Amino acid sequence: MNAEIKRPRIGVLAIQGDYAAHAEALLEAGATPVEVRKREELSDLDGLILPGGESTTILKFLERGHLFDELKQFCSTRPVFGTCAGAILLAREVRNPAQRSLGVLDAVVERNAYGRQIDSSILFSDSKLPGDKLEMVFIRAPRIVETGPDVEVLARRDGRATLVRQGKLMAATFHPELTADRRVHKAFVDLVNAHRASQGGLASQ
Ligand code: GLN
Repeated sequence: MNAEIKRPRIGVLAIQGDYAAHAEALLEAGATPVEVRKREELSDLDGLILPGGESTTILKFLERGHLFDELKQFCSTRPVFGTCAGAILLAREVRNPAQRSLGVLDAVVERNAYGRQIDSSILFSDSKLPGDKLEMVFIRAPRIVETGPDVEVLARRDGRATLVRQGKLMAATFHPELTADRRVHKAFVDLVNAHRASQGGLASQ
């Protein structure tokens, strides 16, 4: 089969949270989603999504399942997209309270930065993605309070980054899987395809 048109296999960490909605969004964005619960399941993937949920719970599971180091290694070799709790897991530093993270994204993240559950909100904002304003669903969202020089900001809320890219990593403080707009997942699938092409081979072949 032509390597260009083969769908990339993108894992979705399926421990807790809204992984099923991410899997659906990936399908619509041109990828084949794969639920990941064990470290063996990471081996033949072209990329990975770390979904929202409760980062403390996800972190405990990663540590107990000996997935933490494996995941850190995965982040250095293949594209990874963290949304909400997933963005917290990717960050270099986590505050409010401090918590261990993979430390691969050059950003400082403050958890639950917009108040309690009732503060969850939907905003439309300009973004660097092609097309109209981007709908952003925030649920007990973190706030990115600092980004390093290699981090490109693709969307903001009140001047602060909400969607970022750093090399083959992406992070969103909102939930793109909960809207009908597939531009964010498409941007990640494009990143995965570009990375596959740059490696000259396909993990999924
Ligand atoms: N409040 C959660 C945390 O700190 C993140 C919320 C979410 O992923 N929707 O981990």
